[in-house]
Amino acid sequence: MTTTFKESIQDALANPNLRGALGRFSEAYKISREKAYAGMDFEAVRDAVRDVKAYGASHLEELAEAFKAKAEAAGAKVYRASDPAEVKAYILALAKENGVRSIVKSKSMATEEIHLNKHLEAEGIEVYETDLGEWIIQLCHQTPSHMVMPAIHMTKEEVAEVFSTKVEEGQQPDIPKLVKFARGKLRNRFLGADMGISGANIAVAETGSLVLITNEGNARLVTTLPRIHVAVVGIEKLVATFQDVQPILQALPRNATSQLLTSYVSVITGQVPNTDGSPKQLHIILMDNKRSEMAADPKFRQALQCIRCASCLNVCPVFRLVGGHVFGKVYTGGIGTILTAWFDELKQSDDIQGLCIQCGACKDVCPGRIDIPELILELRRRLAVEKGMPLVQKAIFAVVNNRRLFHSLLRAASVAQKPFAKGGFIRHLPLFLSDLTDFRSLPAIAPRPFRDTFKEIVQPECKEKAAIYAGCLIDFSYPEMGESVVRVLNKAGIQVVFPEGQTCCGAPARYNGAYETAAGNAKDNIKALLEEDVTYVVSACPTCTVALKDDFIATFESLGMEDAIGDARKLAAKTLDFATLVKKLVDEGRLEFKDGQQAETVTYHDSCHLKRTLHAQQAPRDLLKKAGFTVTEMKECDICCGMAGSYSLKLPELSAPILERKLENIKDTGATSVAMDCPGCVMQIRGGLDKLGSGIKVEHTAVRLAKRLK
Ligand code: SF4
Repeated sequence: MTTTFKESIQDALANPNLRGALGRFSEAYKISREKAYAGMDFEAVRDAVRDVKAYGASHLEELAEAFKAKAEAAGAKVYRASDPAEVKAYILALAKENGVRSIVKSKSMATEEIHLNKHLEAEGIEVYETDLGEWIIQLCHQTPSHMVMPAIHMTKEEVAEVFSTKVEEGQQPDIPKLVKFARGKLRNRFLGADMGISGANIAVAETGSLVLITNEGNARLVTTLPRIHVAVVGIEKLVATFQDVQPILQALPRNATSQLLTSYVSVITGQVPNTDGSPKQLHIILMDNKRSEMAADPKFRQALQCIRCASCLNVCPVFRLVGGHVFGKVYTGGIGTILTAWFDELKQSDDIQGLCIQCGACKDVCPGRIDIPELILELRRRLAVEKGMPLVQKAIFAVVNNRRLFHSLLRAASVAQKPFAKGGFIRHLPLFLSDLTDFRSLPAIAPRPFRDTFKEIVQPECKEKAAIYAGCLIDFSYPEMGESVVRVLNKAGIQVVFPEGQTCCGAPARYNGAYETAAGNAKDNIKALLEEDVTYVVSACPTCTVALKDDFIATFESLGMEDAIGDARKLAAKTLDFATLVKKLVDEGRLEFKDGQQAETVTYHDSCHLKRTLHAQQAPRDLLKKAGFTVTEMKECDICCGMAGSYSLKLPELSAPILERKLENIKDTGATSVAMDCPGCVMQIRGGLDKLGSGIKVEHTAVRLAKRLK
């Protein structure tokens, strides 16, 4: 990560307006979006959006030609532009030909993408943005910080200041008054403009229609008042039929602004008359700008399913801390990172891809069903291939890929850490490592790893067997979690084995783009775990469970290692997370907990992978209740704690405020303890509470349950 980029993160974090406004917005957004979807099946809606958009992405050429034929039959002129230069040249020539001196624009990310305003202004043409947010940022010479709300990063005080200094003195920070002021100023621009430029949310091939979904009414004025209307439309906006508009119209307002429908939905098919009755010139530019290349890429084609609702930004724990300008380009957030890598170039995403914490919150709300985190990982992989890994990282992954060496080093570290470790924590690290213990204590490496202590647990002879997959944290820092898992399974009549050949699940390597290392880890683990004749492979770490169930397969697929996929699937079929397996055993009557209600109140933190990939968020809550605990919910229980493996080491400046918010939410519940199912989250939250000197206990659900077995 470059120093300049790190500095831009620091600047954003130091801006209290940004953090406060975005933090409050994201909290309110979650609730209002849920209300907007009340009574609707979001999963069905997004299946429909995905299908419509995926069809479009795989039939771009066919739909573009059909659209052109229909739109031209209705009087439009359709121009196919392959790159930004062609779009700009077409509009400039049109403007010159028609003596255009003034242009009004409605909000359009496609024109932002190609920096159209700058180009036209350089030729002496006046360009006025008429969407309120776009006008504000135009006055400030900024790019949008958010796809739907371009000026979301600014307070009303800042907007009043901008209006006062750039337009007319004396504006007050009063929102209705500022809106009225803007409306008055912009109204004259509409009336005096020679050309209107818009984008479009949807382009319908069947009818040659453009659909514009807006709230301010400015798009209607832009597209109807001036004598020439130019629509710049990315070809991914094409859908096959008018019927296909429906799911997008259901999802876009709900996801973007939590509305059932926006104030305006305009459908433009062909020329409309000017006020004197003459037909208005309608030019539709279908812009490619690498979208066809994207459609031809089997991994990235799904990014064309984006309907630009920006909900992925609204729920992103990183975006709400730093806002959009840190991303440095027009498109922001996770999807912005992907679009930047394509519409600009891969290396432009080098720094910004590192912002993704891989919590998966974006994937959960995306109406296009785009797997944004997976695509970010693919970017990381391609970047690593294109420019190579930094030497230090390469050396670390080489060690991780050598199980014996890796484990010997961990054992050696458990001795070397002694001067720093106290009461199971490392609270201060020296010199350049001090950042790592500034905001949370780190766990000390256990004196004896779980793989050693396991040998001392005498196993019952049972018909059913499970292999435990520990993962690095349980194995070397939290052996008590592994021992608890074993105790619970033994009690249910399951014999547990610990395959010695198991090693790191490869998640750290994969999440850093080192897929070869991840594949090496995957092969070692598959070999070790499939050697055992067991019914289940169980893990008490959701990240490891996801690695065993999904990531090994995905890594092999990405590397074209077809031969390895069969065994990876066999392992995936046997693998279960701890909570899901134990819930099953309880439901089957094979496991019971002691009677009696516990005095302790527990709040539960959802680990990202357990909730969003394994969908097992209910099982631990049910189990804790069955074991006699009162479970009280915390606010934002499913927002990432900021750990995310090596993320908290690479970007402690972001990990720390994310953790801070989590700890506040935990404390607000008044619970005396917090449970979770991920050793990584335990490390982060326990370490954070230790730094605060809090008495709130932090435990893995397995440890809690093991103490309550009948
Ligand atoms: S990626 Fe999904 S959530 Fe993000 S803007 Fe696009 S459609 Fe919306």
